[in-house]
Amino acid sequence: MFETVIGLEVHVQLNTETKLFCSCPTSFAEHQNRNTCPTCLALPGALPVANRDAIVKAMRFGYAVNGKVNVVSYFDRKSYFYPDSPSAYQITQLYRPVVESGELYIDLKGGGRKRVGISQAHLEADAGKSIHDGDISKVDLNRAGTPLMEIVSSPDMRSADEAVAYLKKLHSTVRYLDISDANMQEGSFRCDVNISIRPEGQSEFGTRVEIKNINSFKFVASAIEYEVQRQIEAYEDGIYREEVIQETRLFDVNRGVTKSMRGKEEASDYRYFPDPDLRAVVATEEMIEEAKDIPELPDQKIERYITKLGIKRYDAEVVSSQKELANFFEDMLKSGASPKIAINWLTTELLGRLKRASLDIINSPISSSKLAQLVIKIERGKISGKGAKDILDVLMDRDEDIDTLIDSMGLAQVSDDGAILKLIDEVLEENRSKVDEYRGGKEKLFGFFVGQVMKRSRGSANPKKVNELLKQKLS
Ligand code: ADP
Ligand code: ZN
Ligand code: MG
Repeated sequence: MFETVIGLEVHVQLNTETKLFCSCPTSFAEHQNRNTCPTCLALPGALPVANRDAIVKAMRFGYAVNGKVNVVSYFDRKSYFYPDSPSAYQITQLYRPVVESGELYIDLKGGGRKRVGISQAHLEADAGKSIHDGDISKVDLNRAGTPLMEIVSSPDMRSADEAVAYLKKLHSTVRYLDISDANMQEGSFRCDVNISIRPEGQSEFGTRVEIKNINSFKFVASAIEYEVQRQIEAYEDGIYREEVIQETRLFDVNRGVTKSMRGKEEASDYRYFPDPDLRAVVATEEMIEEAKDIPELPDQKIERYITKLGIKRYDAEVVSSQKELANFFEDMLKSGASPKIAINWLTTELLGRLKRASLDIINSPISSSKLAQLVIKIERGKISGKGAKDILDVLMDRDEDIDTLIDSMGLAQVSDDGAILKLIDEVLEENRSKVDEYRGGKEKLFGFFVGQVMKRSRGSANPKKVNELLKQKLS
């Protein structure tokens, strides 16, 4: 039996207005090379100046993951030549990063939680993009110098499930902190996966392989599964040393396999040294204070939902996993819905409908206040659960007033004691002998009376009320 060991390096694009070392905008530009200046084009003599906002955002991440934040940090040069990196080096942080340690907790599938260590998080400048167009290649430097935070985990994960759980937790955390939009398709949350195997019981790690730039949670899982299998087979065939070497591989999405890209460089290949153009970053008291201003994070929300609102852990986890979803839920509460029924209608009914329509909570056609209104109607017995579902179906297509819909769809539920008692009296009057049998001990007849009352109301009576009042009447 083998144990899988996984460590992840995630590049998060920080959502600052301007680039890491110049004042060019980070926003989308119509034209290639529009968002550039002498600094991000690396023209001789242009000097970089570090972006305060990027530093505060990286520090905020450090505090949020309970890490050691360096008040003084440095930038280093990592030398390599790429056509889309005009300076022939990348400015990054090796020796003294902004964040030196940290931790995230993941929820395990079979229940329970696990700590995953973060060994560092540092700032670095992104490269530009090469565009291959027939037999010519072009370089677009709009992205050159965009701030990235690279978050390096410890090799603490033991399965594809754990790796994906870590990535999801990290993803939601940076979004809660509002330091990145973390859009995977657009590349603002990119992930390199390091994988090794070792026979169970062996204390040293095996040789690790790095798989670069995977852009979806699903592909992370498939890449890991394929690579683990490849390494195990090599081990079992006695060709582990030849086949599993420290290298960088790429995941071929179409074929579901990993392929060798290049040998893994050693740190010495990069000739790292402190960037002489940049001074040490020294965070001021003000920056520290701003960085420590952290909103409620998923773990804290989950605990609060469970202990203060009486919600089940699973539901609390689902709703907290996405900032917009948690906000939607909390807005429903502000509109007066009660927590348990609100979360139920949000997670099962609304999310189910959104999923079927390929929509997300962000573009839900039904607002939080609308769903809250509907939930309140159910709580007050104005409509049945079934009626509310019919209304939700309509609201998915068009926005309408809920009261108007209740009228036009004939969904009003009678919860008024007087009206229901009248029906009950009629039913009991017509079925005197059955009433006697019931009172004589034939309790099974209770369901019959309920059925009769419901029938007489043409389904509009509140069944809970009917039950209550019948019990009283018959006792
Ligand atoms: P480097 O400096 O060569 O990039 P690091 O020590 O920074 O190496 O590790 C890079 C990533 O690889 C980290 O996420 C780490 O957890 C992971 N890693 C290190 N060793 C192993 C291993 N044997 N198996 C799996 N992952 C590993
Ligand atoms: Zn610039
Ligand atoms: Mg590394």
